[in-house]
Amino acid sequence: MSINHPSFGIIDDNRVIFLDTTLRDGEQSPGFSMNLEEKLHMAQALSDLGVDVIEAGFPVASPGDFESVYQIASLITKTVVCALARSGGKKDIEQAGEALKPAKLKRIHHFISTSPLHMKYKLKMEPETVLELIAEGGKTARRYTDDIQWSAEDGSRTDPDFLCRCVETAIKYGATTINIPDTVGYSTPEDITRIFTDLRERVPGADKVIFSCHNHDDLGLGVANSIAAFKAGARQADCTINGIGERAGNAALEEIVMALRTRHDVFPFTNKIITEKLLSVSRMLSTITGFEVQPNKAIVGRNAFAHESGIHQDGILKNAATYEIMTPESVGWTRSSLVLGKHSGRAAFRDKLKALGYGNLQDEQLNDAFKRFKELADQKKTVYDDDIIALVDDEVRDNDRIRFIAMKVTGGSYEPAEAQLTLEIDGVQKSAQVNGNGPVDAAFNAIREIFPHEATLLLFSVAAVTEGTDAQAKTTVRLEEKGKIVDGQGADVDTIVSAVKAYVHALNKLLIKRERKLPEAITT
Ligand code: MN
Repeated sequence: MSINHPSFGIIDDNRVIFLDTTLRDGEQSPGFSMNLEEKLHMAQALSDLGVDVIEAGFPVASPGDFESVYQIASLITKTVVCALARSGGKKDIEQAGEALKPAKLKRIHHFISTSPLHMKYKLKMEPETVLELIAEGGKTARRYTDDIQWSAEDGSRTDPDFLCRCVETAIKYGATTINIPDTVGYSTPEDITRIFTDLRERVPGADKVIFSCHNHDDLGLGVANSIAAFKAGARQADCTINGIGERAGNAALEEIVMALRTRHDVFPFTNKIITEKLLSVSRMLSTITGFEVQPNKAIVGRNAFAHESGIHQDGILKNAATYEIMTPESVGWTRSSLVLGKHSGRAAFRDKLKALGYGNLQDEQLNDAFKRFKELADQKKTVYDDDIIALVDDEVRDNDRIRFIAMKVTGGSYEPAEAQLTLEIDGVQKSAQVNGNGPVDAAFNAIREIFPHEATLLLFSVAAVTEGTDAQAKTTVRLEEKGKIVDGQGADVDTIVSAVKAYVHALNKLLIKRERKLPEAITT
């Protein structure tokens, strides 16, 4: 029994569809806001990676969200572009439809909560009303596309009989993909197997649609649950790069993909992901958002293929398979022993960036990064890989409204600290000269003088990128404004400059956040 899908045509039984929701579920989590340019870069990278569906956003949330879905729909031609909407919100679905207008391949994803807890306390709706809204949502969505995904929010904690009725209704009103999210990350693999087996056996029309899972990682089971869903007949996973998303995040795309590839002997599924691009997409996301993955993160963490102990290193040298279940190259790592210094040229620098997973840089970004690399190489004897990562991460962010230009600070115990700072605000340079309690305080006061704002500083931390007193400092700054929290990062050989860059980065992210008001009750 093959399925004839409106966007993919006849789909092979074992083919797994990847819906990436980095730009929606991932982007709506604290600290991960992206601006339009950044979303477009990510969308292009996801399309090149081979994901089948890009969930681009939630158009009704704000004009900015609408615009970014519209622009992604205009840019991306080979991948289905998907927009989220509430089943009960006619305007939601119309906005989704309008935002998707330019898309060659488009999907509307409507959702509503179905669990007793959510219906009673969140929606304050009777189950019969929920069923009506599923039907209404489907009818409205069908005016715009035949590719319709419906989600039962909190589906894993929904009464099984009621879930069957919801899914039957969604299918009757046009859904071609049925998604059962484990919204709160509560399920075990056995729960997931039972849910999908039950639905596929009991719901009329189940053989004509694709079942999809959407697993959160609150108990660290997101990837295991996704694979359990495939084994029970689901053929789509909603997931994100680096596992970003609400709370503990979503199942990580790179982990599901590599589990399927590495253990093809027990998971006989196919997909279209080009695994060699996983690392560069992961890096791109870290760069844009300022959040690196932890060193021990599977697949894309910097230690994922590092072998420290002598016994392991010895084994690896004799035969890599002794301690490697997959090759680093298969996910985009390349072995490069090139050490860069002030005499290294552009080609070597480009090679090094590629080896570090930055194969996606635009020419202009590469030029800027190379210029800064040369400056750094003049100040520092050896430029380590970590220096280059910090430098590129600091350089690549696009379209920031506020930019660091120059600074001079004085500190010490003889006289009050003073900062002279120049920033560029929306293309116009502005300067200030301000005192403070120490150089960092003076520098931050200068930022506030040039760009007045109400945000409070929650966290300020500095770490050396590598060893030595000439190492670059990497600073993290966390700002809070009216309950919205953002992290910014900056790197420089001068600690105070790195602090100012981090503060400015956080402010830029806060500006994106200010424009957006997510309606209540958005999760899925
Ligand atoms: Mn979610």
